Amino acid sequence: MASKSRQLHIMFFPQFAQGHLIPTVDMARLFARHGVKVTIATTPLNAHLFANTIQRDRELGLEISTCIIKFPSAEAGLPEGCENLSSITSEEMLDKFRKAFNLFQPPIEQLIEEHRPDCLVADMTFIWATDAASKFGIPRLVFNGTNCFALSIIHSLMRHEPFRNIATDFESFDVPGLPDQIKMTRMQLPNHMREEDNERKKLLKEALKSELTSYGVIFNSFYELEPAYKEHYSKILGRKVWHIGPVSLCNKNNDDKAERGDVASIDRHECLRWLDSKKPNSVLYICFGSMFRSSAAQLNEIAKGLEASGQNFIWVVRKVNSEDKEEWLAEGFEERMEGKGLIIRGWAPQVLILDHEATGGFMTHCGWNSTIESITAGVPMVTWPLHAEQFANEKLIIDILKAGVSTGAKEWSRWADDTKFKVTKDDIQRAVTRLMVGEEAEQIRNRARELKEMARRAVEEGGSSYSDLNALLDELRLNCP
Ligand code: UDP
Repeated sequence: MASKSRQLHIMFFPQFAQGHLIPTVDMARLFARHGVKVTIATTPLNAHLFANTIQRDRELGLEISTCIIKFPSAEAGLPEGCENLSSITSEEMLDKFRKAFNLFQPPIEQLIEEHRPDCLVADMTFIWATDAASKFGIPRLVFNGTNCFALSIIHSLMRHEPFRNIATDFESFDVPGLPDQIKMTRMQLPNHMREEDNERKKLLKEALKSELTSYGVIFNSFYELEPAYKEHYSKILGRKVWHIGPVSLCNKNNDDKAERGDVASIDRHECLRWLDSKKPNSVLYICFGSMFRSSAAQLNEIAKGLEASGQNFIWVVRKVNSEDKEEWLAEGFEERMEGKGLIIRGWAPQVLILDHEATGGFMTHCGWNSTIESITAGVPMVTWPLHAEQFANEKLIIDILKAGVSTGAKEWSRWADDTKFKVTKDDIQRAVTRLMVGEEAEQIRNRARELKEMARRAVEEGGSSYSDLNALLDELRLNCP
């Protein structure tokens, strides 16, 4: 029998997008804190994004290191330096980027051969990873960047296709076979799911199937957040599941929080000084993740909605056209908002901002990381789902957790249309006011506070995520060759 003290060596291979890279690196650091020797395999530009954090962990004595693999840009037909999904600007580039995923099997196999880890944790999109690991007789764990609730919805939609016999795109239908009654519309689903068989749908099916042949699935979530769906995912869908989050809680100091994911486009001290000058819960933070670029028309509409709401705000702007043109900004907006609003053009230190007591609301696209980071900080949300599984996450936030207010965004869309906007000034003003002011706002804030306590308890010694991680490591020590 393997000894409890035997040191495991685990190799992590994250997807090349901040929404996967950031939680995987946090997860790797968490494993290292539990005595595991950790190697993160990634490409040069992606490694650069977390190099300082890893260096700090090494100085603390943790066994964590990075192995560099070349990104096959030329082979995939992508420009040099395009190694992260945040630099993808069209559907065509996205297809090429996806094709590149398959080119990583040989270099990863070579790394496994050289380093001989006990286990491989690879992103769900690397469908070949289970085979690669099994060639060396080691297990592969899947990390897929979302939660059991959203994945249960995706499984049901793929299997039952309840959207087929619905008269219109906006009419709602029940998602069958789930612990709760969940209603969706066709407009909330990606095109590849709605359409008949296509390449993307095939890949999604294969990725979900590969969870069954792998050792199991780890989630950046915690049991108390979605107990019925953890059960559903393991008992009904037959996967082995470990909830080990919220992983962002491994960022204990301001250096880690401020540099998480990229270099922030604002000086951290300036940002904290600005927040320090505001009353508790009086600032709305607005950010739509690492990839989505809003259209100029939509940005203009957001600016009007924010101004009309009268709330303080920090707004992270990543827009669709060239960075130096500011034609989206209404005349005099920034001057009028002086002291009331702070615009960050580029990368924001998100967790640092969410953790500040002045932050009282988060207008979010419901990316899973943003969602769980908001829950962990006890910040209620204004939901504005855009693409990926974000409409499912919105259901969790609004209908199940009751921790937010919806803007009423209706349509799944990966790319912004430069000439149009989808959520109006009035929708924005209404949702922001409901979340920030009055009795309903207070109720939602109390609920968010409860969730924050649950999240923090989950990762403490004896908590559900702490115990799940230890159970996983014990099992791996027993079963790894
Ligand atoms: N993030 C950040 N600063 C930004 C934008 C995003 O720190 O300016 C981080 C955010 O904290 C989260 C991740 O990037 O950890 C985004 O992941 P999410 O799943 O929310 O959205 P995606 O980028 O995948 O759409």
